[in-house]
Amino acid sequence: MEIAAAQPPTAEIVACPECGEATTPMRLVSWGHCRTCHTAESRAIRPLRW
Ligand SMILES: [Zn+2]
Repeated sequence: MEIAAAQPPTAEIVACPECGEATTPMRLVSWGHCRTCHTAESRAIRPLRW
């Protein structure tokens, strides 16, 4: 007997609409994209040179 649903709902993985990277639905809801895109966007707004 194998357990079909091994992953809990909280560990759900979706693809980022911007880069296609695997991320969690929670990040898409709060940021609109994955952590990588969020970091890139933050650097675009506030460059590290400042
Ligand atoms: Zn992304």
